[in-house]
Amino acid sequence: MGVTDHLVGVGQHDQVQALVVEGPVLGVERKGLAVGMKQLEARVRQAGHRHRPQAMGYSVVRQGIEPRRSDLQGHLAEAGVQVPIHPVPLERQKQLSGGGGEPACPMRKGVYRMLIDCHHHPETGEEAAASGLRVRGIPAFSDNIIWLLDRPSVPPRDGGDSRRPAWAVDPGDAAPVMEALDELELTLEGVLITHHHGDHVGGLATLQRTFPSMVVWGPERCVADGVQCIAQPGGSLTLLDTPVEVLALPGHTAEHLGYLLRGPDPWLFPGDTLFAAGCGRVLGGSLETLWASLQTLGALPPSTRIFCAHEYTEANLRFAQAAEPNNPEILARAHRVAALRAEGRCSLPSTIADEWRTNPFLRAPSLEEFVRRRQWKDGF
Ligand SMILES: [Zn+2]
Repeated sequence: MGVTDHLVGVGQHDQVQALVVEGPVLGVERKGLAVGMKQLEARVRQAGHRHRPQAMGYSVVRQGIEPRRSDLQGHLAEAGVQVPIHPVPLERQKQLSGGGGEPACPMRKGVYRMLIDCHHHPETGEEAAASGLRVRGIPAFSDNIIWLLDRPSVPPRDGGDSRRPAWAVDPGDAAPVMEALDELELTLEGVLITHHHGDHVGGLATLQRTFPSMVVWGPERCVADGVQCIAQPGGSLTLLDTPVEVLALPGHTAEHLGYLLRGPDPWLFPGDTLFAAGCGRVLGGSLETLWASLQTLGALPPSTRIFCAHEYTEANLRFAQAAEPNNPEILARAHRVAALRAEGRCSLPSTIADEWRTNPFLRAPSLEEFVRRRQWKDGF
């Protein structure tokens, strides 16, 4: 079996991230990882796989790691790369591999094809869009969510395109975004980028070719990925006639940004900084800055809707239960989220109030305890 056999199915963000070229792994063995990745790239090209080589380092590991962990470990070892690969429960392996045999790709099978309309909060049924904006979640890869915003009252833009405009947040993959735009008869006017990881910027090149007049806002670090307008922390930009504040949220990566739409129920797009019942792991930033970023977000109004970039809530709640076994709110949320996910529904958005009740990282009483929990979660 070759490396390309791993290019189907989708694996786990944490494991993928362990291989991103600035993560802690690289800190230890930069040379080995870089060389190993080149060798893997060469093999994929030899095998004539259609994936772009630059995405390969990400994809290979992303894709096969869970269903075929031992095989992939073999490939990596051959290539001189030593990467900690965590065991994956049999249950999850089965789920990913479609019950055995070839690893499954949920997108191809259409499991996650439906759009999640977050116009109403899934728990309260309350209308979230104070400013008349609407947001929908487009599932991508195994657990990314690309948020798509539009405003039903905005007429089609001039210039011959009769479709109404929309904006996307962190389009790591262009295909599901384009499908959603077609289905909804929208055109892409702009993009917000939170940080440079491939599952957040990977779709930019294709989208820019398809929608040449769209604008892309993001951190300076992402200019090479397609960012045209540098979003300055503390500054603002305009999205569909709505002001958006740019927040500095370092920690997961050093340059990570968040986007906030103020209103009675503000909307927050924190990328990989804050998740429902969890937070990003440190891959280029630092624990201290991540802690400070969480405090910044924790100070937002309790009704703030949190549109984070991954559907990790169930797994995060498992950890939260371990970290705070006597917290009944965590248990209750775990039941609610399990019910939503069993129906194939999105557990997002969360709210700052939800997070204060159930997020073991936001709730950590001190930096020391936060660090202890974050490091514990890394190996959980
Ligand atoms: Zn990331």
